[in-house]
This record gives sequence, C-alpha cells and structure tokens, in this order.
Amino acid sequence: MAWSGKSHPHRLLLTKQFPLGLEVLPLFQPAMLAANRIWNSCVWHSRETLKQENRWSTEAELKAKFKSFAVWKELHSQSAQAVVEEYFEAVSGYRKHRENGHLEMNPPNFKPKNHLRTVTWKRQGFNVEDDSLVLKLSRKKEPIKVALPGGWDAVTLPDGTGVRGTPVEVKVKAVVRRRKVENLVLHVTFDLGVVPVYRTGAVSAYDYNSALVARATLSGILDLFICREILSQVQYRNKTIADFQEKMSRLKEGSRRWRRCLSAKIRRLKKLDRRIRQMEHALTKLFAELDEAEGVAFAVVGDLTDLRRSARTGMKGKKATQKINQMAYDRLHAEQRYKNLMRGVQTDSWTEKNTSSTCCFCGARNPAWRKHRGLWVCRKCRLILQADLNGAANLLKQYLFGSCVGWKLPSTFGEPQVWRWDKRSNRFVQVSPRAAA
Ligand SMILES: [Zn+2]
Repeated sequence: MAWSGKSHPHRLLLTKQFPLGLEVLPLFQPAMLAANRIWNSCVWHSRETLKQENRWSTEAELKAKFKSFAVWKELHSQSAQAVVEEYFEAVSGYRKHRENGHLEMNPPNFKPKNHLRTVTWKRQGFNVEDDSLVLKLSRKKEPIKVALPGGWDAVTLPDGTGVRGTPVEVKVKAVVRRRKVENLVLHVTFDLGVVPVYRTGAVSAYDYNSALVARATLSGILDLFICREILSQVQYRNKTIADFQEKMSRLKEGSRRWRRCLSAKIRRLKKLDRRIRQMEHALTKLFAELDEAEGVAFAVVGDLTDLRRSARTGMKGKKATQKINQMAYDRLHAEQRYKNLMRGVQTDSWTEKNTSSTCCFCGARNPAWRKHRGLWVCRKCRLILQADLNGAANLLKQYLFGSCVGWKLPSTFGEPQVWRWDKRSNRFVQVSPRAAA
C-alpha cells in the first residue's frame, strides 16, 4: 500500500510487509501486551471523564497522566504515545460517524487482556543497521533486533525505476485467525522522497458522481466510467449493517447469540469491504494508466469541499442520508492521487462551481439546460452531451482559463468511450457507447 504524504503533495510513502514467523513472538509479546494495557487505560480514563464531567478527555491529558504508569515504561516513549494517538483517532472516527447518522456505532472499547496490540515505532524509535532494524523499547530494556532480507528497502515504481526508501515508521502486527495467533508481520513505511512530476503535458479532468465518473482531456478524449456496481455494493453494505443491527437489537448484549451475531457481522463486512476496495483500486488504477499513456501532466478532480454536490442532490440539510448512500469520494481521490504520483502525474483539485450548469462547448450558462435523464441540451449551440461529461469538460476549462462560463472549448471532442466493471475479469473494460444510456 502506498499514499502521498501530507507534508508535501509529491512526497510518496509506501508500506512493505515482512512476515516474521512465530519464533519471534516471545520477543514482541511483552511490548504488544503493554500497548494493549495502555489502550485499555485510555478507554477506562476517558469513560470516567465522560461520566463525571460529560466531556471527552484530551490527548495531552491522557499522555501526561500515563507517563507515571509502570506499563508506559515498557515501551519507547513514542510507541507509548502512538497508542494514545490511535485511541483518539478511533474516538474522532466514532464521533464523526455519530454526527453522520450512524447511531449504531459504538465508542472504542476494552480489548481482552491477552490481545496482542500493534506496536508502532516512529522515526526516533528505531535504528537501521545494514539489513536489520533495531527497535527500541524503554531506555532500560534491550532493543529488539530484526534481520530483514537483502533489498528490503528497494521499491520499483511502475515505470521500472528502482528507488531506495528511507524507513520512517515500523509496526509489528499479529495475524490472528479464529482466536489463534498465526504470525507476526512487520510493516515498514518508506519515504520515497519527493517524486518528480511532469511539468508540461496534457490535462485531464474528472467529474465524480454517484454512479458515474466522467473524464475529459485537453486532447479531446471523453471517457465515461460506469460505477453502478461499486455504488450498489456500498448500498448493499449499508443494508447488511442495518439488518445485523436490527437482529442484534433483539438479542441481549454480550450474550452468546449476540456475540455470534457480531462476529458474523464483522466477517460479512470484511468480505464486502474487500470487494468494494478491489473495484475502487481497479478504477483509480485505470485513471492513472490512461493519464500516463496519454502523456497527461495534470489530472484535475473536483474540490470535495465544494457545495455543488450537496446543492445538486437537493439534500442540503440531510448530511446523514447523503453520506451513507455515496461512494467514498475522499478515499477514491486519495487513491487516484498516489497512483498518479507513482506515474509522475500531478493531481490537482479545483472548484466545480458552475460546471454542471454551463455548456462546455460554447460557454453559455443556464441551469435549466441540464435536462433530466442526465443529458445536457444547449439551446444556444445545440450541443447534446451526457451531463457528467459536460461537467468534466467544464472542469477542464475552469482549470485552464479560471472559469468555464463564457469560454469556448479549445479542442473538439470525439465519441465518448464507455467503461464498465466486468465481473468475470475483475476489471473495468471498454464497452459500446450504448451501454451508457
Ligand atoms: Zn452551447
């Protein structure tokens, strides 16, 4: 897995996994159990604060409190702090979901005593010695030394160039299946540095919609990606959650049947998530590959903070309903961004203002010309085009000229190419344009 760093838009980070085998379990177990105890302390303390003062404790508060605990001194200070940070990430995720109407979400909970919690080593928590990593524990304890295979820090980019990454974060995770620890895996995150991106070249623009993504390029190519399959999987996932919730509400919490139902729910959701993620990866990979093949230097996506999307769906106040029934745009954008980066394409987000109510060909604006059934019908230049393709072409103009209104299209477009998910080959394939109707 890879992503682009927050510190610099072109910084590429990538995680590699190294299975360690169960022989090293005795080395790591004390640290993992200590991390678990810190997690449980976080749960306990913030519950008490919530009960007594009706507020959530702050990160700094808990860190300061735990510093004197014996268990804190088992780990490297940064590793101990990382557990508290993870806890607060979970809390904020929980609160965000509640705000978005997922009332079935539970706050982060206690873990069983023997749970092997993932331990994180930040930059100062480990040293590199040739082909091995020295993972520090607290000052009084011996560090853990892990030997890694040769070439462990080498990464090959899609264009074939090899780079050597600088490790910036190390995690050790337990692989547990049916309550049995099967393996320990080392996750090493590498910083591959700031990747050079093409400075000149074509531009492509993407318009993400509920079941469609439209693409327009400066060279006149139009693509339409039908994502109904992803959307229906997302909706099916929501229905599955609701069904389980309904079933579990009738059972006694913590009872055997309730627990069985919960593990069935987790299994089911994991499977559905895998399918959704697979399709999302295939889609964003296709975008990056098309951009690379066509020599695109800048890929433009709509700015997610834009209000257009909520305004258009007519659900301005109903944040909850809207969020639940949509694809994960921010996740798709993040994936597209790093896949582009690995191919030297820069991703920019740009305002979608007026892009759905303007003619991409002549630049006349009239919101009424966006006809139902997803067509744009221009009364001025007589252009008839699929409305999302019109939106993508306008986003392209907006990026080039600053505004899409009043500007004519710099190139002419060919027949749109239509792509749809193919279940048999597990990828998006090109189909006849009729399939879009
Ligand atoms: Zn027009």
